[in-house]
Amino acid sequence: MTSQARVQKHDHDFQIPPQLEIPQTLAAGPGPGNTDPRVLERFAAAGVADHMQADVIRGMKEAKLMLREVFGTKNVYTYAVVGTGWSGLDCAFSPILPGDTVVTFVNGTFSGIDDLNVRLKASSREDLAANSLDPKPANVVTINVPHGQSVTGEIVEAALAEHKPMWAVMAHWETGSGRINDLRGFDAACAKHDVMGIIDCVSSLGIAYFDIDDYPAVTTWASCPQKGILGLPGTYAPVSFSDKVIDLVRQRGCPSYDHHPILGARHWCIDNGEDVEAAAYHRTHSGYSVASFHEALRLLLQHGREQKAADYAFYEQGLRAAVEAMGCEVTSNMTSLVVCNLPGELAGKEKELVGNCRARGFAIWPTLSEPTQVRIGILNQLTPAAINDIVGRFADAMIEMGAEVDKQKILDDLNAHLDGR
Ligand SMILES: *Cc1c(COP(=O)(O)O)cnc(C)c1O
Repeated sequence: MTSQARVQKHDHDFQIPPQLEIPQTLAAGPGPGNTDPRVLERFAAAGVADHMQADVIRGMKEAKLMLREVFGTKNVYTYAVVGTGWSGLDCAFSPILPGDTVVTFVNGTFSGIDDLNVRLKASSREDLAANSLDPKPANVVTINVPHGQSVTGEIVEAALAEHKPMWAVMAHWETGSGRINDLRGFDAACAKHDVMGIIDCVSSLGIAYFDIDDYPAVTTWASCPQKGILGLPGTYAPVSFSDKVIDLVRQRGCPSYDHHPILGARHWCIDNGEDVEAAAYHRTHSGYSVASFHEALRLLLQHGREQKAADYAFYEQGLRAAVEAMGCEVTSNMTSLVVCNLPGELAGKEKELVGNCRARGFAIWPTLSEPTQVRIGILNQLTPAAINDIVGRFADAMIEMGAEVDKQKILDDLNAHLDGR
């Protein structure tokens, strides 16, 4: 067959699909959150401008300064990585070289993936060849904490005392199970045993109120665009590196171009350990992404980090009480997400209930690893009307499955809580 004939055959079979329509849903899961109209507006209003244009670079410089506020840090190497949470985390883990000793703490889906990424990076060629998709290098110790429980300072201290690793890795808020892990204890144990700490703060940054400079043994932090920051998904993942880890990368190197902590910072006008005037090309940053991310950071700082954290706690209390009044057992302690078991008579029907809700555009989630639980999130839902909507829709779904739920009383009690502020 000639190549001409093959092209024609291909053209003949292929139908261009119609334009893609994506409906508006209520994003009430662990993330992404509902994108703020102001963020979308800045994305759509940005002009065509390349990645070295003066206002694009100014936007990146301003975003860098806002990120230092959001993180509560003086770390010069604070900027954002193109992509999603895993992009930022890949940059955070990229200083880990084959053979490095690492202890990771796993208590759910996301810290489990962090652990996999660390094992991929710390593996020798032999480790990779032996099990290329799930290598088990002897130099990485994984401490498993059961689903639904938090990683405590005692667990971290015991593991670091025993294994004396170079690095330790923990998720601050494990979104899989909705559990808060002990950041204070992690930092203290890292300091005591001279370990470099890496924290996945994908789910906590912009929701919990904390300054990373209060945790000096944690050298590296990585977050995501679309949870607490509430930027557009797939735009920018915030990262922050202390000078200690940057010096290490300068000495030992790092085998990534894309996610090199020092090279990537140069487009954000960070070079040789300081802020500089001129940007150095690293990649084709998008002016649209910069504009929307910049607005998301402005929104967060205008709300106020402390106020926003208090708002999440207040609205989560209301949602938690309502879900408990429907007979569910809440096992989470994050303030952006309620993770619960259904009442006895509905046990085993979690996926069916979640599926019914999602089919109607009420986008809650099941847990992604066992045991199956229901996850209901409130990212960017910090108003009485939004919480009423979520509780009402969840009550309807429970009633439809046969649960005995007094919807009116639950909404009345919720509004008594919301009025009591
Ligand atoms: C969501 C999440 C991630 C992954 O983020 P993506 O944006 O999906 O890449 C990693 N860690 C934690 C704790 C998360 O909650």
